[in-house]
Amino acid sequence: MIVGIDDTDSRKGLCTTYLCAVLVDEFKKRGYGEVSTPRLVRLNPCIPFKTRGNGAVSFEIMIARRKEEKVKEVVKARVSELSELREEETNPGVVFIDDTALNTEQSESMLKNFYENAVREVLKIENAYEIISELHFDYFGLKNKRGIIGALAAASFLALQKNNYYDFTYELMAYRRKERWGTSRIIEEASVWKADEATYPLTWDTVDVANNNIVFAPHSPCPVLFGIRGDSIDAIYKAYELIHAEPVERKMLFVTNQGTDFHLIRLEDAKENLQDYHSYVLDGMVSSNPRTIEGGHVLFSIALSGKPAEKSIECIAYEPTKGFRDIIRELRVGDEITVFGSLKKKTINLEKVAISKLNNAVERNPKCDKCGRTMKSAGRLQGYMCKHCGTYRADKDVVIVDRGIEDGLYEVPPVARRHISKPLIRMRMEETNKKIHPGR
Ligand code: ATP
Repeated sequence: MIVGIDDTDSRKGLCTTYLCAVLVDEFKKRGYGEVSTPRLVRLNPCIPFKTRGNGAVSFEIMIARRKEEKVKEVVKARVSELSELREEETNPGVVFIDDTALNTEQSESMLKNFYENAVREVLKIENAYEIISELHFDYFGLKNKRGIIGALAAASFLALQKNNYYDFTYELMAYRRKERWGTSRIIEEASVWKADEATYPLTWDTVDVANNNIVFAPHSPCPVLFGIRGDSIDAIYKAYELIHAEPVERKMLFVTNQGTDFHLIRLEDAKENLQDYHSYVLDGMVSSNPRTIEGGHVLFSIALSGKPAEKSIECIAYEPTKGFRDIIRELRVGDEITVFGSLKKKTINLEKVAISKLNNAVERNPKCDKCGRTMKSAGRLQGYMCKHCGTYRADKDVVIVDRGIEDGLYEVPPVARRHISKPLIRMRMEETNKKIHPGR
């Protein structure tokens, strides 16, 4: 049986992954049956009612049918006990998927669509209820039960991903002892840098070198001490062993969709026109030079490939993306690029940019053939003239300049990275002819 859980926490406390870890440990201890590595999925990062990273969890328990009710009781009891029910925005949901319901192509395709839409689209709770009722799943919810959406998505991910259907990564979460929740975290910084040095790039997003920052520990009052992310379980545990920190209550390894870019929709796959609260990969040409606006954010526009020129779209690199803005500021009209990011208020919030072709040709006022001085405009649409020699030229010169940046892929640094965004360093494992410029 697969159990999916979501929406149990609030900004003031708990973390759905912690509740999952408590349940997995409890079931292992009770010896009910083998329990799988739990899954942690990050769903649509633009959902307004998310607490933080729009995460949901699931695990599978291999158990005799007669014991299923007992497992459900324990899950319901822990969710009811531990959820932050006083907070308005906490609406827990749990979904139980019976393995026998997964045998048909139809059920698999329904779960696949649901999971993929939960990461890329904005769903209604009715979308979850329809599947639950059609496939005869059991569920449980509290308050408005909105967590059912994430719970079904996390359970669906596990059902499909266990056959390596989707790209995945790992995160080892370490949880604090209860008496320390809400106090400042004790983590020896030097040991974290050492752990990163010993295991990067098999682990990633532990530190941000460019910004001299440790990024693997939250600052909220939640039970998480830190989380080590990566592609190799061995490297993750090696890093864990090297880190000196306050004693942990427990730790739990999750298989996740973090660092996969699964939220991004290619323009050709977009069902409708570009919509807010969706994340895209868009090819185009820079159509206005970048400008820095109040607050240090950098804004420019691109004309989308294959679309009418008036369909150009604004892109923004926010101040927290730090050094990434320096790359964006180097872009010029005519550069061929691909932008990656979420659409909010009709503006793409940049997560990555791929520069395919830099426009090296720059138009300049011509130089005088006689004296070499720069010619001046002779008036609107009247060419250029050398004030000194009186020579005349009709057009500007086109000169090839060195642009100071290279083509290839650039990304926001780890301090500004979304959980689901793929760090460029993971692309070293792919066959791509694009150069990568990791942003850390
Ligand atoms: P944390 O990261 O601390 O676990 P969170 O950011 O995951 O918190 P939740 O408290 O889980 O936030 O709230 C997100 C809510 O949005 C859940 O109720 C979930 O069911 C719902 N949800 C998730 N994805 C979608 C989606 N694509 N469309 C509509 N609702 C969604």
